[in-house]
Amino acid sequence: MAWQHISDEDLGRYHLGMVTDESELAPLEEHLLGCPRCVERAEEAATYVDTLRATMITGNFDLD
Ligand SMILES: [Zn+2]
Repeated sequence: MAWQHISDEDLGRYHLGMVTDESELAPLEEHLLGCPRCVERAEEAATYVDTLRATMITGNFDLD
């Protein structure tokens, strides 16, 4: 299998706990163990997702 970096989308899904399939989760975590660059991108994706989620929550509260 070719060494392929994890996509931003998958990093975001991983952070949200949406990657539950072992066949997808196992290689993803294995890649993160051996790839500092993707760990860095995962942290950026986590920050982005959290900001997005906070904005969405705030948006919901602004409805009334
Ligand atoms: Zn990588």
